[in-house]
Amino acid sequence: MVIANWNSYPRIEANLWDFRAEAEALELLHKLDSCIPRGMGRSYGDCSLASHIISTPGFNRFISLDQEQGILECEAGTSLKDILRVILPLGWFLPVTPGTKYITLGGAIASDVHGKNHHIHGAFGSHVHSLRMLTPQGEVITCSREQNPEVFSAVCGGMGLVGLILSARIRLMPIHSVYIRQKTIPAGSLDQLMELFELNEDCTYSVAWMDCLSRGQNPGLFMLGEHCTAKEAPDRNLSPPERAGLSIPGHLPGWVLSRAALKAFNSLYYTRGRANAGYSFQDLESFFYPLDRVQHWNRLYGSKGFLQYQFVLPKEDSRPGLKRILDHINSFGLPPYLAVLKLLGSQKGLLSFPMRGYTLALDFPMKPGLTALLNTLDQLVHDLGGRVYLAKDARMNQNSFIRGYPENRRFLEIKHGLDPDNKMTSLQSKRLGLCAKAY
Ligand SMILES: Cc1cc2nc3c(=O)[nH]c(=O)nc-3n(C[C@H](O)[C@H](O)[C@H](O)COP(=O)(O)OP(=O)(O)OC[C@H]3O[C@@H](n4cnc5c(N)ncnc54)[C@H](O)[C@@H]3O)c2cc1C
Repeated sequence: MVIANWNSYPRIEANLWDFRAEAEALELLHKLDSCIPRGMGRSYGDCSLASHIISTPGFNRFISLDQEQGILECEAGTSLKDILRVILPLGWFLPVTPGTKYITLGGAIASDVHGKNHHIHGAFGSHVHSLRMLTPQGEVITCSREQNPEVFSAVCGGMGLVGLILSARIRLMPIHSVYIRQKTIPAGSLDQLMELFELNEDCTYSVAWMDCLSRGQNPGLFMLGEHCTAKEAPDRNLSPPERAGLSIPGHLPGWVLSRAALKAFNSLYYTRGRANAGYSFQDLESFFYPLDRVQHWNRLYGSKGFLQYQFVLPKEDSRPGLKRILDHINSFGLPPYLAVLKLLGSQKGLLSFPMRGYTLALDFPMKPGLTALLNTLDQLVHDLGGRVYLAKDARMNQNSFIRGYPENRRFLEIKHGLDPDNKMTSLQSKRLGLCAKAY
């Protein structure tokens, strides 16, 4: 079948293998010479693409929930959406969540995903108590920070390249309402946005949307959030209100998302944000997953798809670095249609993306010249000591990867021990030279 991940690029012909029990997963690993696990395909690029794909969403049972300690154990194909459906009414939330709930537990661990609170609470892997993994050689091992810690640091952020995660025990976070007290602050420039991040570094959630279509100043909206106490929440309900969402029926023609249309949208979004500046109560869905309300919004970019370029720069160099990068993008005349800025803390996983600094995620429509632009951005990012997020990558080259991920050799040593024949191989891992034999 033809398959692609969220950004619809690359689109490849592949065999998809489902399983519902561990014994079936083991059979698949014996049968296939080479394969890669895939959750819900919400990554942007080719990290979960290969000729043979082990598809995990059918392996999705809840195993246990310790309601005293807030420890949940699930099979790796369980989606965050299903987890939230069970835990929210019991007064628990995910300590870390990305901007969509349509991902699997295994995908969250393998990409070591981050949320709007990374600078305070770290990445998803920091909240994994322990996990069980089927190694490429057919052994089931348990790992955690105490048990097989080296393997644990290779699995969290390891992009499925050291084995198939079967299940995980994760620590949940207690909440007293499904509301977030949000503060929205309009900012006229990148400098102002960064000052707001610095001033509010001890707030739990922070994120900024930036307008990159208006040349020069990059105005934006800075949003802060804290969980409401039961007393201040608008109601006592522990399930977020159901809302009817939109759905994009098919790939739309390119002009729908033209530069002019996006410019008008950005200006409207900013004006509305300014008008609604200040405090408001947002339910968890609206605060954490605004894009999930429009199903298949990726189709807005048309059948050619789009690329998301997400990078992080060390904090001390972030301000001049981000300016240099945005100037460079402007000089190319290929502005991103969406730009989201966050502050990250440090991270321990060998291939985990975060480092203490600022991360910018930019959505670019597929256009001639885009590859050339992104290749030069790689150079700039790495010269500034930063790196590009593997879960959002479809095109980086091996040199850029090696420069951005200094622990790659240690990762390959561990992969060599667990997967000497490179059974776990994706299109991305081939492109980046992430293979045990090369080590
Ligand atoms: C709208 C949107 C917003 C997003 N926001 C964020 C964000 O804020 N922060 C962030 O960090 N990410 C974000 N992402 C990216 C997304 O969270 C990650 O790409 C995540 O890994 C996707 O999980 P998945 O289950 O879809 O896995 P896939 O995309 O299918 O796979 C991702 C990686 O996980 C591996 N994998 C999957 N399951 C297993 C398993 N059982 N065992 C071993 N390896 C496995 C795959 O091999 C692959 O390398 C966003 C994506 C979208 C579409």
